[in-house]
Amino acid sequence: MIVKARQKSEEHLMLESLHARNGLTEKDKQYYYGLEKGYQGELLFDSWMEELKVDCLILNDVRLKQRNNHFQNDSLMLLAGKLFLFEVKNFEGDYYYEAGRFLQKDKEERNNPLIQLEKNESLLRQLLHTHNIQAPVFAYVVFVNPAFTLYQAPMDKPIIYPSQIRRYLQQFNQLSTPVSMRERQLSEKLTALHNEKSPYSQVPDYEFGQLKKGMYCAGCRKFTLLERREKLFCPKCNWAESVESAVIRNVKEQQLLFPNRKIRTIETYEWCGKMIDKQRIYRILCKHLNKRYHGKMTYYEFENPEDI
Ligand SMILES: [Zn+2]
Repeated sequence: MIVKARQKSEEHLMLESLHARNGLTEKDKQYYYGLEKGYQGELLFDSWMEELKVDCLILNDVRLKQRNNHFQNDSLMLLAGKLFLFEVKNFEGDYYYEAGRFLQKDKEERNNPLIQLEKNESLLRQLLHTHNIQAPVFAYVVFVNPAFTLYQAPMDKPIIYPSQIRRYLQQFNQLSTPVSMRERQLSEKLTALHNEKSPYSQVPDYEFGQLKKGMYCAGCRKFTLLERREKLFCPKCNWAESVESAVIRNVKEQQLLFPNRKIRTIETYEWCGKMIDKQRIYRILCKHLNKRYHGKMTYYEFENPEDI
């Protein structure tokens, strides 16, 4: 059972929006592509985990803090009194392992995921100890990309290769232990300790005026949307969405990038690339948000900050 679903981080969503709106330099783009590739790998791993038939608790993307150390756990699984930590890597191509280093053939060295795993595992153990929780931790690096090969691979390291994932997970299906109260309590504790915001965000500076305006397609993130009656339609990827939902999506995007700016009809009209007329935007804002006044200025707020 998935207790905590995976979601794109705030940093990821901001970079996604800035990328679509031409707000990233070449260097920032490379960082964003890496983030996106990692996320796709995690989704692939989730699809394997969803096939598990055994009674267990799965917590995805849990960001924890032990003393002053922040650490992110790609996937945690509570099963039969044990806590499994999976560090998911979407490495692609030919690599070789030499003297504790991960080297890409003809290219540079990558951070050794085993070192990262060791650090996270140790912090997780310390955190459990701090909270008087006793659960043995089993940690693995999982390479999910079928196009990944590691030459001179060490046999004594906690690594699961793409061709082994199915077999590794299937062994758990033999177990018939139901989820215990202790596991439920631990999962609640870890969920409560999760920090929504990452302290290591690498979002570059940007300004309202510099970003490309318009409503991009939520499917392919290109500015290809066409209006047909009450709907917006993307001829590139066939995405369809009501005008209302697209405007609200864009208001949320504005809020994500500019949390200190007030939501106003005129700005939303401009943000949406003047594609939807002001009257219609005004009606949508009135319907979904609360109207507020500041002197002569009218602005709008979401009722619940979690709606953003
Ligand atoms: Zn599209």
